[in-house]
Amino acid sequence: MNRFVTIVAAGLMISGTAHAQGVTEEMLANDAATPGDILTNGMGRDLQRYSPLDMLNKDNVANLVPAYAFSLGGEKQRGQETQPLIYDGVMYLTGSYSRMYAIDAITGKELWQYDARLPEGILPCCDVVNRGGAIWNDKIIFGTLDARLVALDLKTGDVVWRDEIADYKAGYSYTAAPIIVDGLVITGNSGGEFGIVGEVQARKADTGELVWTRPVIEGHMGTLNGEDSTMTGELNATWPGDMWKTGGGATWLGGSYDADTDTIVMGTGNPAPWNSHLRNAGTPVEGNTGDNLYAASRLGLDPATGEIKWHFQSTPREGWDYDGVNEVVAFTDPEGNKKFGTADRNGFFYVLNREDGSFVDAFPFVKDISWAEGIDDTGRPIFVEANRPGDPSEAADGNKGEIVFSSPSFLGGKNWQPMAHSPKTGLFYVPSNEWGMDIWNEPISYKKGAAYLGSGFTIKPNYEDHIGSLKAIDPVTGEWKWEFKNDAPLWGGVMATAGGLVFTGTPEGEFIAFDDETGEKLWSFQTGSGIVGQPVTWEADGEQYVTVISGWGGAVPLWGGEVAKKVNYLNQGGLLWTFKLPKQLAAAE
Ligand code: CA
Ligand code: CA
Repeated sequence: MNRFVTIVAAGLMISGTAHAQGVTEEMLANDAATPGDILTNGMGRDLQRYSPLDMLNKDNVANLVPAYAFSLGGEKQRGQETQPLIYDGVMYLTGSYSRMYAIDAITGKELWQYDARLPEGILPCCDVVNRGGAIWNDKIIFGTLDARLVALDLKTGDVVWRDEIADYKAGYSYTAAPIIVDGLVITGNSGGEFGIVGEVQARKADTGELVWTRPVIEGHMGTLNGEDSTMTGELNATWPGDMWKTGGGATWLGGSYDADTDTIVMGTGNPAPWNSHLRNAGTPVEGNTGDNLYAASRLGLDPATGEIKWHFQSTPREGWDYDGVNEVVAFTDPEGNKKFGTADRNGFFYVLNREDGSFVDAFPFVKDISWAEGIDDTGRPIFVEANRPGDPSEAADGNKGEIVFSSPSFLGGKNWQPMAHSPKTGLFYVPSNEWGMDIWNEPISYKKGAAYLGSGFTIKPNYEDHIGSLKAIDPVTGEWKWEFKNDAPLWGGVMATAGGLVFTGTPEGEFIAFDDETGEKLWSFQTGSGIVGQPVTWEADGEQYVTVISGWGGAVPLWGGEVAKKVNYLNQGGLLWTFKLPKQLAAAE
């Protein structure tokens, strides 16, 4: 009874904005322009992470104060990477170990909690994270570490439907925020280090009914309405023998939707195994380039059928774990041209044509790229062949190929942590990392549910005084306007606002607001644990709020090497912080 009363009260507090019909396609399409709610991952399906709010701005951000903190509780914390969603006065956030919480957005009071019952033997490669849910109609949908999808009732947290994306025993898992397009919930999959096959799936968000599937490695067959549709690519065009059957390409970071071209854009991870010589990628042979399509690529998909409309492969002949999954942000340049921007693991920022995904431009966003000299005018890397880890079958002992130093490291010039784009400054704010690795190849054969790398590595900082590097980058000229250096690697999301602010957090626990033009630090707050979550800002009752989750974890602390020294003292956590600019201080300086 108490719980019922609480929910009703929360609903009444935002009287006048009740949505009897629930969340619609139109509301999702307009999300970026309606700062009273946050209905999509990326604060808009273009993933710009830009808020039109300017109540909070350069002049008054010094007055930003905590409104509440909400603890995720539990004995086990680990990395908190969620982006909260806000609808009808309620905030929905996911937590580590496949948990979902609904809290009163204004007070932080818990309304309900859902804990997925995870089986023994799940195989998440890189911490037990979750990056958020997707809202449709009267439900919130999120994926769990055992590669399932769960739809919960927004009001009660009760399960409405549940479905399996793939078999967790084969190494599949799920951590991304799904996206909703025209009533379909679109998901990828995780598990690229286990020889899985990357796939995109579309289900009816109301019922969970599967509509289409699109595996992303050539040779695999897609489905539509329960029947075979078309094969992905052309069998054995770029893969030797049967290697495509366990070819990787995990679509683990989810995707974006470009309404202007009616295209779902998904990124695909590394081809499997890491040892590129087993995939013909080390030495291309006659009639087979070893590009290993469509791994390490961006794919444009038709939302109605799952057919591939276009592809752009950022790292053909991939051999460094440069997953091509990083988010693709739709933007418009100062001349009105519609483009995509994406900062790849491989250290290059790519600008693509939004109509067909074709290559426009590329430039480095980190300092010491060693595996390629640059990108040619077709978008293909100019490889430094000597910097490809050697073929173990040519080594004297047959066990360990030649060791090379490669930069960026396998964790990337930028990993999953999302950048922001401000249409006001025209700049991208890219959370990058300056690090490299010693990497070598080893023999490997596929075994279901076992790591499938055929590589070893030691990760290394490239500079003594920083790994993390937040850069403001002009996507037209490639110029870096400003840089903020951070000792530990950056692993949290970035957000820009019309108030001229850029927000992000650090593993050291600081939540920071920067001047979007100069990079000057204007405000910061110590959250008590490392920030690897994604900030949002929103408005209620004429006041602007900023929310971010704090809780150190993710992939960085799982690896040793010299990077460990910079992070092994950091404490875990699990607190969601909401800040506000009190009305009476909005005009003050
Ligand atoms: Ca909105
Ligand atoms: Ca990978």
